[in-house]
Amino acid sequence: MADAGDNVRVVVRCRPINQKEKDAGNKVIVKVDELRGSIEITNPAGPPSEPPKTFTFDIVFGMTCKQVDIYNKVARPIVDCVIEGYNGTIFAYGQTGTGKTFTMEGVRTVPELRGIIPNSFAHIFGAISKATANVTFLVRVSYLEIYNEEVRDLLGKDQTARLEVKERPDVGVYVKDLCSFVCHNPDEMDKLMTVGNKNRVVGATNMNEHSSRSHAIYTVTVECSEKAVTGKTMLRQGKLHLVDLAGSERQAKTGATGVRLKEATKINLSLSTLGNVISALVDGKSTHIPYRNSKLTRLLQDSLGGNSKTVMCANFGPADYNFDETISTLRYANRAK
Ligand code: ADP
Ligand code: MG
Repeated sequence: MADAGDNVRVVVRCRPINQKEKDAGNKVIVKVDELRGSIEITNPAGPPSEPPKTFTFDIVFGMTCKQVDIYNKVARPIVDCVIEGYNGTIFAYGQTGTGKTFTMEGVRTVPELRGIIPNSFAHIFGAISKATANVTFLVRVSYLEIYNEEVRDLLGKDQTARLEVKERPDVGVYVKDLCSFVCHNPDEMDKLMTVGNKNRVVGATNMNEHSSRSHAIYTVTVECSEKAVTGKTMLRQGKLHLVDLAGSERQAKTGATGVRLKEATKINLSLSTLGNVISALVDGKSTHIPYRNSKLTRLLQDSLGGNSKTVMCANFGPADYNFDETISTLRYANRAK
C-alpha cells in the first residue's frame, strides 16, 4: 500500500464567469495560479483586512483552460493504464452548474469542446488501431445511474427496473443484469451515450433537478487477448469508470422536507463516503476502507485503490455568491488529496 497515494490524484477546475453572473453584477473572487497549483479565494463578506484563503493541489485548471489540456493531463494517463489492463476511475465533483458535465461529456458535436468521455473513445480506438497483429481487443460499454441509492440501467430495456449490486469471489462486485454492448468504433460508443442520456430523462419530472441528484457512471471495459510466439494466449482486462457525480451543494439550504430531504441525506452520505474512501486510500495507513457505506463506492470498489488509478476533478465557479459552496468543494478536494 506504500504508493497507493500515487494512484489517487485530485485536481480542481474553475469555470469562467458567465453572462448571467456578469449581468447580475457578480464579482470574481477566485485567483487560479496554474504554475504554482494554487487557488486563492477572497471572502466577499469579510473585512478588507481578511487575507484570501489559499489551497494547493496536484494540478489546477483556470477559467481559460482547454478541454484537450484536461484530457491530456488528467485522463490520458488513466486511459493508457486501462488499455494495459488496469482499472481506472475519473470523477467529476462539484456544486450543480460548475461544469461537471462539461468536464466529463462537454459538447460532443464540437471537437474542441468535447469532454473526457468522448475524447477517451477516440483515444481507446486510436490505440487499438495501432496494435500489432497478434493482439485483439474487445471493447464493451455500460451506462448506469444511481438515484436515491437505487441502480438503474440507462441502456436497459426496462427503465423501471432497479438492479442489485452483488459480489462473487471470481468476478468481484458487479451489477446483476446490467446490459453491456460491444463497440467497434468511437461512433458506436457515442451513440450509446446518447441513448443513455435520453433514458436519464425518462421518468424525471425535472431533468436539472434529477441530474443534480443522481450519479451517472459510464463504464468502458477493454479486453485484450495477446497471442505470444509460444502460441499461448494471454488475456487482460481493464475497466474505465467515468463518473458524473450528483451536485455537492448542501441540500439543507434548499429547505427540503419529507421525501426530498431523505434523498438529500442519501446524496450527502454517498459523497461523504466517497471522500472518506479516497482520503483513506491516499493516507495509505487505514486498515478499513468504508466502501460498503454507499452504493457508489461499493460498486466501484474494485476500481478504487490497489493497482487502480483514480482522479477526482473538483469543479467550482468563480463568483462571489458561491463563496460558501466553493470553499466547501475546495475543502472536500483538499481532504481527498
Ligand atoms: P454541472 O454538470 O456541474 O451542473 P454543467 O457542466 O452543466 O454543470 O455547466 C453549467 C453551464 O456552464 C453549462 O452551460 C456549461 O456549458 C457551462 N460551462 C461549464 N464549465 C465551463 C467551461 N469550463 N467553459 C465554458 N463553459 C462552461
Ligand atoms: Mg451536470
